[in-house]
Amino acid sequence: MRVQVISDMEGVSGIVKGEQTTGGEALYEEGRKLYTHEINAAVRGAKAGGASEIVVMDCHGAGKGWTFNSLVPEELDPDCEYVVQEEWTEYTEFLERGCDAALFIGMHARAGTQAGVMNHTIFGRDFQNLWFNGRLVGETGINAALCGTWHCPVLLVTGDEAACSEGRELLGAGLTTVAVKQGLGVFSARMIPPVRARELIEDGAKRALSDLKAVAPYDPGTPCEIKVEYKNTAAPDKLRFRAGVERIDDRTIVSRADTWWEAWQQFYF
Ligand SMILES: [Zn+2]
Repeated sequence: MRVQVISDMEGVSGIVKGEQTTGGEALYEEGRKLYTHEINAAVRGAKAGGASEIVVMDCHGAGKGWTFNSLVPEELDPDCEYVVQEEWTEYTEFLERGCDAALFIGMHARAGTQAGVMNHTIFGRDFQNLWFNGRLVGETGINAALCGTWHCPVLLVTGDEAACSEGRELLGAGLTTVAVKQGLGVFSARMIPPVRARELIEDGAKRALSDLKAVAPYDPGTPCEIKVEYKNTAAPDKLRFRAGVERIDDRTIVSRADTWWEAWQQFYF
């Protein structure tokens, strides 16, 4: 069984402040250790659940050379391999070869979610809102659509409670979720301590892989229209010249194509 782990930092137990997720800050070194050990818990659970090949892809923009490179290599479980990419949604090779399941670890809720710890939609891109064929989504939706492009189902989402309910709303009740904290605000939460959170994640990963059909691969639909409302006018000013992209008001564009993946590539890269 081939399993891709897609991970982010904001939904990890013990992480609640921006300084823990920003490369170069004193608290970042603690944050990346907490992050790495939650990944290891997922890897252990995946192995126990039958995975024979596990590839971890870090999707956290920590800044500078730390972007998509927050895992501590020295402390990573030797039973996985890991990818450091340059752009979000750039690494698709493992999915293209055929992947049985994806596990999303450390997720946060989409921009504008009350009680979503560090809620946002793609760090550094100024997204206010993002819709796939009229459906409001966050990063779980983006990663799920990426996996779904190659028919890979998402079977587990971990993070704060807001991220878990966002996952269940999008992917259905068959999704296994593990909430490791309850957001109280953007930078505040009631948390399950990391040691116990890792046990829950390990167990969740194992359980999730016991039924590969529990969740259908996510497909936003064909044809596909991706709409992005930005926080300001800069991106729409540039993107209006792209083929397949239309600026529909000062801060909003739509990208239209036959499939989600084509519509995404048209404006994102
Ligand atoms: Zn992140």
